[in-house]
Amino acid sequence: MKSRSIEKIFAPPAPHMVGDGFRVHNFFPNQEINKKRMSPFFLMDYGSKIEFSPSKEPRGVGVHPHAGFETVTIAYHGKVAHHDSAGNSGVIGEGDVQWMTAGSGLLHKEYHEKEFSKNGGLFQMVQLWVNLPAKDKRTKPKYQEIAQNMMGKYKLKDKKSIVEIIAGEYNGVKGPAFTFTPIQMYNARIKKGDSLDFNFPASFNTGFLIVEGNAIINDTIAPLDHFVLFKNEEGTIHVTANEDAAILILSGEPIDEPIAAYGPFLMNKWDEIEQAIHDVNTGKFGVLE
Ligand code: MN
Repeated sequence: MKSRSIEKIFAPPAPHMVGDGFRVHNFFPNQEINKKRMSPFFLMDYGSKIEFSPSKEPRGVGVHPHAGFETVTIAYHGKVAHHDSAGNSGVIGEGDVQWMTAGSGLLHKEYHEKEFSKNGGLFQMVQLWVNLPAKDKRTKPKYQEIAQNMMGKYKLKDKKSIVEIIAGEYNGVKGPAFTFTPIQMYNARIKKGDSLDFNFPASFNTGFLIVEGNAIINDTIAPLDHFVLFKNEEGTIHVTANEDAAILILSGEPIDEPIAAYGPFLMNKWDEIEQAIHDVNTGKFGVLE
């Protein structure tokens, strides 16, 4: 059985703060993994484990717009709250995912949930920006709140290892997320010594983020907090947990269209960026204090 080769394993880049609540390592886009290399995934900010002290005022990031793509927030530890200019709000807790389609545009705020903030504690999360194809860029904003208990569950026979399917399908088990383009997104929670195989089309851009423990991928050790980028070729990815491990698994069909990216906007052409900025300034994304 041919294996799908690793292109490169990336150590976490130096972190930066997004607002005062999110300390993130930006794995892409950057000089090494350009804005098309992981398409349809455009951006990945990884908040590795950090202990927040108690705070009366929830830490977070203030009002900002998004348009032309989706944000997918996965909480591994701690709780994240949000609210937006259309009056939507919600909280995601440990193991949960919020899939927000910004589409034609909205304003929102993201911050630590009130109780979590008051008590402080361990925080670990991922935020992905998933691009939308040109025909869906102006789709109406919407949310998919995907609690851990709604995810598809593939259990390894007689073992405690489990693959939670957020989007797509693994060994016949489907995930609940609606996606605009073909996407596979799983959390593989693998017990020490257990092995799992993954197969994706060669054309699908594919990467694994090690969020807990470490794993042997094909023959190579992938350490905690590292991102494993695979070559675009046929083959099986063989994963063995070296200790209890959790791995975020991403694979998607590339969107082969021009990208115009500016701040929180992701369009095909620059005049669409200018239009989005104009729309924000003229209140078309609504109002949020
Ligand atoms: Mn945001």
